[in-house]
Amino acid sequence: MLENKVAVVTGASRGIGYGIALELASLGANLVVNYNSSAASIQQLVETIQTQYPMVQVHAVQANVADFTQAQTLIDTAMDTFGRIDILINNAGITKDTLLMRMSEADFDAVNDVNLKGTFNCMRHAIKPMMKQKYGRIINLSSVSGIAGNAGQVNYAASKAGVIGMTKSLAREVATRNITVNAIAPGFIETEMTGQLNETVQQAIKAQIPMQRFGQVEDIAKTVAFLSSDVANYITGQVITVDGGMTM
Ligand code: NAP
Repeated sequence: MLENKVAVVTGASRGIGYGIALELASLGANLVVNYNSSAASIQQLVETIQTQYPMVQVHAVQANVADFTQAQTLIDTAMDTFGRIDILINNAGITKDTLLMRMSEADFDAVNDVNLKGTFNCMRHAIKPMMKQKYGRIINLSSVSGIAGNAGQVNYAASKAGVIGMTKSLAREVATRNITVNAIAPGFIETEMTGQLNETVQQAIKAQIPMQRFGQVEDIAKTVAFLSSDVANYITGQVITVDGGMTM
């Protein structure tokens, strides 16, 4: 379904990004997979893809997406390697949760630098080649926190609400160029990020979810695959919530 397409996935060394990269590889996309610090995990991802999907070309690129110049290197490497970028998945993200009264300026800035500015940086560098190609699929990872808010996540919710605003604005700017820009707002998905929550908090959250369970990485990866594919050609500027019915 995605043969001959080139996808860049940020934050692919763990969790949702790792699952997205595997899903896109399974559909035949060539990949540039980004990481910041987890070199061993990205190497494991590359080897897994090479073994399971030998027709797929995959390159790992270390870059801190919060840094404008490093984000440029990531996108330039994809262009130098493959000559095009069809799909950009802005997945890299961090949390630094605490109540506002205890939240430091550094906690606010760090989360917004990666989640919001990192997404801006990668879109900013990828948009020119996509406009030249007259083709692009940009998918940004937001969160239900950015829609409904979440106590302890003023910094994170701000970054994820900002991602939605950027998604809709860019979608309007580039729609005539056959570039779609959409966001996915996951609820609670089982990864290291949610693994940090203690058992009591996890149970309290599950009680708020109509399906009464956390989602799996595959639930997000399949939604990314759908939005990346030509089946979704007429969908742009949307936020698809994947949360077991938690927000309606
Ligand atoms: P995770 O398991 O903590 O993984 C985060 C990934 O982001 C890692 O691969 C990490 O790479 C990368 N990353 C962090 N800072 C980076 C930076 N400055 N530059 C490049 N890469 C960086 O997180 P996750 O749960 O898979 O979440 C993935 C995305 O989904 C995030 O945007 C998150 O906000 C969003 N989301 C997750 C949930 C959930 O329930 N899990 C819910 C809503 C939204 P290194 O390890 O190499 O640093």
